[in-house]
Parts: sequence; C-alpha cells; structure tokens
Amino acid sequence: MIYLDYAATSPLNPSALEAMLPYLRQDYGNASAAYSIARQAQKAIDDARKAVGEVLGCRTSDIVFTSGGTESINTAIKGVAFAMRKSGAGNHLITTEVEHDAVLHTCNYLGQFGFEVTTLPVDRLGRVTPEAVANAITDGTVLVSVMQANNEVGTIQPVAEIARLVSERASTLRKRIPVHSDSVQAPGALPIDVNDLGVDLLSLSGHKFGGPKGTGVLYIRRGIPFVSQLTGGGQERQRRAGTENVAGMVGQAVALTLAEAQRPVYVESTTRLRNKLTEALMGRISDALLTGDPADRLSSNVSISFRGVRGDELVRALDKEGIAASAGAACGSSTWEPSHVLLAMGLGMADVVGGLRLSLSLETTDEEVDHVIDTLPRVIQQLRPIAAAG
Ligand code: PLP
Repeated sequence: MIYLDYAATSPLNPSALEAMLPYLRQDYGNASAAYSIARQAQKAIDDARKAVGEVLGCRTSDIVFTSGGTESINTAIKGVAFAMRKSGAGNHLITTEVEHDAVLHTCNYLGQFGFEVTTLPVDRLGRVTPEAVANAITDGTVLVSVMQANNEVGTIQPVAEIARLVSERASTLRKRIPVHSDSVQAPGALPIDVNDLGVDLLSLSGHKFGGPKGTGVLYIRRGIPFVSQLTGGGQERQRRAGTENVAGMVGQAVALTLAEAQRPVYVESTTRLRNKLTEALMGRISDALLTGDPADRLSSNVSISFRGVRGDELVRALDKEGIAASAGAACGSSTWEPSHVLLAMGLGMADVVGGLRLSLSLETTDEEVDHVIDTLPRVIQQLRPIAAAG
C-alpha cells in the first residue's frame, strides 16, 4: 500500500514505541503513589514534560498532557471561555470558518450556553487576515482561536501576526485576550515555539507526528484564566484530572522531539515531492484546481479538486489501486457532506465535490509519488464518464 494520508494519522515512530514499552510492561506504577515504581513513572512523566517544553519553548509547568487534539482544543476553549466569563471579562469568542470541527463544534456548544461566536470568513486561499481578527474584537471578547495550518488544504495562517494585533487591540481595551492555536497539523512541519507565535494556548495531537493515538498536549501560558474541564484527582496541576497515561506521555514526547529535530530534512524532502506530485497531476489532468495557498502551505499537502468526480468515490477507486488518500470532504457510509473548508474558500459545488487530499511524510519516496502520478490520471479518466452518466 502507498500511504498518503499522513494528515489523518501517522504510524507510531519505532523509537517512541521502544520508549513506551517499559511503562506498558514492568514499570506500570501509578505516578501518584509513594513507592519506587510509582516514582519511576513520575520521573518518566517529568522527563516527557521537559522534552515537550523544550520543543514549545515554554515552562514545563505550562504543559498539560491530554488524550488528543480534540481534548486539548475542548479544554482550551471551554476552560478559558468559562473562566473569563466568570471573571466578568465578557462572553465573545472569535474563530474562523476553516477550523477543524473540534474548534467549530466547541464554539457552537458554547453558543448554547450564552456565548457569542464570530466565525470569520477566509479568502480564496483559505487565509484569514490579522486585520479581520483585530477588527472583530469587542470589549467582551474573551478568546481568539485560529489554527496554525489547515488540515484539508494546508494553508498556513499568520498566527504570530494575529496574536500581535490581538494583544495590541486588547491593551487599548485595557484587557487581556488569550489567543489559542490549533497547531495539530504543525509539528515537524512548522516551528511551534509558543513565544515566537505569541499564543497563550496551543493544542497538539500525538498521533499526527508519530506518537501514539490517544495522546495530546495542551500548552496554557501561566496567568491565563482557566477552569479545568476534567475534574477529579489533582493530576496535571489541577488542569486535567485522571491517572496519567505514562506510556502515552513518554511516546508522545519522544515522537515530538524527533519530529522537531527532523523538521529541516522533512521540509526539504516533502517540499520537493509535493511539488513534483502537484505539477505532474496539474499538468496531466484537465479540469483540476489546486486548493489552498500555493505558497504558504504545509510542505506535505497536495490538495486538488477534480471536476466531474466525487472525492469519496475517487478515494475508494484509489484504495483499489493500493493508494490511501483522503477526500477533501467528510463522508459517512450513507451520507456525504461537502467540505466546510472548501465552501468557506468560495469554491463552487462542482469543485467542492471533487476534492482530494494527498499528504506526505519523510517516509514518502519518489517511487511512491511516481506510482501515484501514473495511476491517478488513469483512475480519473475511468471515473469521469461513469459520474457523467450517473
Ligand atoms: N485539529 C486539526 C487541524 C486536525 O487535523 C485534527 C485531526 O484530524 C484535530 C484537530 C483533532 O485531533 P484528534 O482527532 O487527534 O483529536
């Protein structure tokens, strides 16, 4: 199989697995207990937190381990929104139309509890302008959430500039407006130093960068108003209760450290292969539209809409050819929903329907890319007459 869906998930890094094994076997102690295998577990957690802190450029005590990107995002947005409202800071949230559902549905959820949500439009390339974010701020704004890079089309948002303008605007209002970034697609591809980005909260998902599934990171800058969403034991400094997933934390930290160390070679390799794949497909297939920002995009992302085919059918046909890809749209077994990202970018339904995403990694080879370049035009040629007849 040729796997080109790394934006959906990645295989567990062998070094991460090795680092995890002792905590799944003999070193199974509960980190809260007082005997030696428990202290070992606590030391492993401390080391993992330190390693993550080095990649994010932050204090280790600002890091909360979670069960994944979705939990980090929910915890960040709800945790800050409820705390800010309680302190009388307001009830207004700002986000964008191209966020992952983990952000959009969380904001909608808060809408049911009296919060007001501004969901900003994006341009044709999927970008929101820093000025649009700053202009949306009111004296009741309590949180801005903008993703670092889009999971469907790869467009990179100007998060650092957004954070700078938000902070300026907030200080004229004599308040602090926390900025959260869903950086789930960024590790190993983009710098994620929280101070360079200027963000107050940042969410990661372990399995997107070679860590185990069911692990995530939430960075919360010291001093940001926050209430825990998972209450119980006092783990994670009262910010996320529950017995720690020691092996998961260890594996995630190893994977993140490696992803960050390999970032230059990853960017070089995936940029070259992405360009080769994009140029060949755009040259060989008619009625194809490259979606997302052609320049400011993840080096691993090829997203193209092919008119006259349905993305989900294309994915099934590619699967039969041994290629794992993703439709630019969310599809269930019987229902099909157009991609909210492509719609927000102003694409017509004919282009939205035919969205395909191929996402690469450091493991992706020239041979794999060549095979896709040979196969995809043929598959589309076969599908188009069938779709036209249907
Ligand atoms: N945010 C983005 C940009 C994503 O791509 C994803 C996963 O697809 C998530 C959030 C949610 O992460 P997870 O499904 O690992 O919880």
